Amino acid sequence: MYCKRRWGLLEINRDWSENAFVVKANILHENVHDGTHSFSDKTKIVRSSVSVYNDKEEYDLYGIADCVEFIKDKNGIEINELNGLYSVKLIEYKPTTPAIGEFNETDAIQVFAQKLCADFVWGCDCECFIYYSDKRRRVRLPFDDEFEKYDKTLKVLLSEMRGYISENSIPERVKGQKCSGCSLKDICFPKSAEYSVRKEIEKLRREETV
Ligand code: SF4
Repeated sequence: MYCKRRWGLLEINRDWSENAFVVKANILHENVHDGTHSFSDKTKIVRSSVSVYNDKEEYDLYGIADCVEFIKDKNGIEINELNGLYSVKLIEYKPTTPAIGEFNETDAIQVFAQKLCADFVWGCDCECFIYYSDKRRRVRLPFDDEFEKYDKTLKVLLSEMRGYISENSIPERVKGQKCSGCSLKDICFPKSAEYSVRKEIEKLRREETV
């Protein structure tokens, strides 16, 4: 959703390159997935790095959720291999709070796909959050009210991605695409002009004010 071309370079061309943003996110996720975030107490069971899937034909998704909380709840549901009743919360970790708005739609659609998987696996209707580690703040995502909107968006994206995969083609760069934070810049369009730090900073400033 951030950039179709970036997705194509990563998933179809198997390209990879890191920058400071990628490294920062990797370090955060290594911490989340190292096992130390899994614990239980009287009120909840918390598990990190949880594999989830949804093999309904229209989705056919698999992924790893950063963190799932099973909260003891007398109005909740039964969860396989756990005693009692629970409500379920899904938490995705992100390093940086967005400059504008409560969350990025590009992040929300990722968590929505995880929700479809979690709901499929546990038969629940989980609440979803993004945890921004820079401000140590959880933001609740509006999937109750906007389920249809996210579902439609996700289905369009899945159909497009599967189309590109079956044709083995990489999407073109779209006009107006913001590229300053992208780690694949040098692979995507190798520099023809002389590299200038000043120009890069000016470009970043221009993009931030749009
Ligand atoms: S450099 Fe820009 S167009 Fe190319 S993959 Fe990155 S974000 Fe997309």
